[in-house]
Amino acid sequence: MNMWSKKIIYDITPFSLLDFPNKISCILWFVGCNMRCSYCYNPEIVFGKGSISLSEALEFVQTRMGLIEGAVMSGGECTLHQETIPLAIALKEKGMAIKIDTNGSHPLHIKKMLDLGLIDFISLDFKATHDKFQSITGSNYFERFKESLQLLNASSVPYEIRTTYHSELLDMEDLQEMVTFAIGEGYQGTYYIQNFVDKHATVGDIKSPHNRLTKSDLKNENIEIRN
Ligand code: SF4
Repeated sequence: MNMWSKKIIYDITPFSLLDFPNKISCILWFVGCNMRCSYCYNPEIVFGKGSISLSEALEFVQTRMGLIEGAVMSGGECTLHQETIPLAIALKEKGMAIKIDTNGSHPLHIKKMLDLGLIDFISLDFKATHDKFQSITGSNYFERFKESLQLLNASSVPYEIRTTYHSELLDMEDLQEMVTFAIGEGYQGTYYIQNFVDKHATVGDIKSPHNRLTKSDLKNENIEIRN
């Protein structure tokens, strides 16, 4: 099968002002994921099938030239797909900036994209402490995540770290440990913590959280709480 006809994109969000810092963007939602975070809001993308081919995605971007400045590759886990590399090359040839949303489980793929100069911004999910990583993500990719973090700290490409907070899964000590770990590895940006929003179907069967974080819970000027 011709690579460009592979339907590995679940959906396209045509227009976003929020998902790519300082850029108007579209979002390409790649199917499949190698984690099983119980709180994941996107079970249909994690378990579903793609309906949009790479060539259709490229044609879509072509129709938005002049209206959007960038494309976000999200998912699911977009770095599972080698095809993100030729797609990013083609999008950059059209003048699009590229942002990657990743769980950090494929440092080699991230390195390849960084080495080729294909990434303009990365959002790296920091799921859990070392001890809770397996139970929260259903995977044992903490060391791979750490490798991705180290790669990004050594690169000049801007990136952000973000964590979804659910009080049944992480506590304050865990969050403090994660922030300290990221800073210890050399992270200097803002650490974003997103409260879990209890209104979607999720990958796992998860209880409602018993509390939400507020600004005063974690006093550190480098932490921003998103609701
Ligand atoms: S939240 Fe977890 S399961 Fe869902 S897409 Fe992200 S890494 Fe995959």
